[in-house]
Amino acid sequence: MTTPDTTPEPHPDPSGATDPLGCGGCDEALEQLERYLDGELGEDSRERISRHLAACFPCADRASFDEQLRAMVRERCAETAPPALLDRIRLHLAVEDA
Ligand SMILES: [Zn+2]
Repeated sequence: MTTPDTTPEPHPDPSGATDPLGCGGCDEALEQLERYLDGELGEDSRERISRHLAACFPCADRASFDEQLRAMVRERCAETAPPALLDRIRLHLAVEDA
């Protein structure tokens, strides 16, 4: 009697493709990454994300890439935006701030 090879293969979890820590934090980290980089997160979320980034290489890699991209875009904008436009933006920000 021959037994067919029915060794069950471990099912890759479709939702946890990038979760080497298995903590389920990657989705949240990537979802909040933009706000994290913008400094718009509350203290709790910021700490959770930063702890995740410290332990999770793929997410940290993504975060540093996004950060560099942001810095580059900021630099480019600062270089190319005409002074008149910058003045208007500053004025706008000042008004909103008041
Ligand atoms: Zn992660």
